[in-house]
Amino acid sequence: MKLGCHVGMSGKDMFLGSVKEAIGYGCDTFMVYTGAPQNTRRKPVEELNVEAGQRLMREAGITEFVVHAPYIINLANTVNPDTFELAVDFLKLELRRAAAMGSRTLVLHPGAHVGAGEDAGIAQIVRGLNEVFAAVPAGEEKCFVALETMAGKGSELGRSFEELARIYDGVWENNRLRICMDTCHMSDAGYPVRDDFDAVLTGFQRYFPLKEIACIHLNDSVNAQGAGKDRHANLGFGTIGFDALCAVTRRPEFAETPIILETPYVPRPGSKTRDLPPYKHELAMLREGSFREDLLARIQAEAE
Ligand code: FE
Ligand code: FE
Ligand code: ZN
Repeated sequence: MKLGCHVGMSGKDMFLGSVKEAIGYGCDTFMVYTGAPQNTRRKPVEELNVEAGQRLMREAGITEFVVHAPYIINLANTVNPDTFELAVDFLKLELRRAAAMGSRTLVLHPGAHVGAGEDAGIAQIVRGLNEVFAAVPAGEEKCFVALETMAGKGSELGRSFEELARIYDGVWENNRLRICMDTCHMSDAGYPVRDDFDAVLTGFQRYFPLKEIACIHLNDSVNAQGAGKDRHANLGFGTIGFDALCAVTRRPEFAETPIILETPYVPRPGSKTRDLPPYKHELAMLREGSFREDLLARIQAEAE
């Protein structure tokens, strides 16, 4: 198993700090945003302290990490040309940056059609990805763009495997695409993640071989299957439940696949601000394979 979570990247240490944080939680792998996820301000890669981070990764036996593109970039936008252009330009830089950092996987939210309709949105995503791949040659150390399965909130695209397959169909260099499966999003989109994950994978294989899955986001969901909401819950504290999520990590098909938690931070007792990372405890729970009802209390007690 390659288990990990998303970690920060900031301060003086930057990427080295990300690796330290991941090691502190007991990660085998991890995911970073190259800056704030809600904006596109980025430091040049020379200032990210990549070499020191990679050295520490090697020492810790962490062989792989994932980069997540900021979620405000929207390749599907046909309504505002500036938004689309910003997304394309940013993605070119981000793909180079992720490759230079040594990542093989850049996770991307396909985009939202913002009222123009699915067909127009998908055509625009295809156009954008073709521009990005044409401008950034695949190069030696390959970094793939992994399209994330989405919950279908608002006008989000990529909420079905069929929609993701339509993107693949239009992209010339679609051998540079991969899929990131988010368990919360798939459940919210209507897939039976809790009750029948075999059926989810069978449905996936109608469009893609399983080897296209480059990354899994392992999250529980606050909302019911099909709710189309996208609110992550801590493992075992949502509608998918611990057993179903733990079973995903035990699948032989995913033995080498980075499995990343993006579950919410936990508030201190008597506080509303969620500032306690749950990952050390959630990862331990996954490795043990048994749910701990008192997870939140244990995280809070440790912070006292
Ligand atoms: Fe995401
Ligand atoms: Fe996700
Ligand atoms: Zn989400």
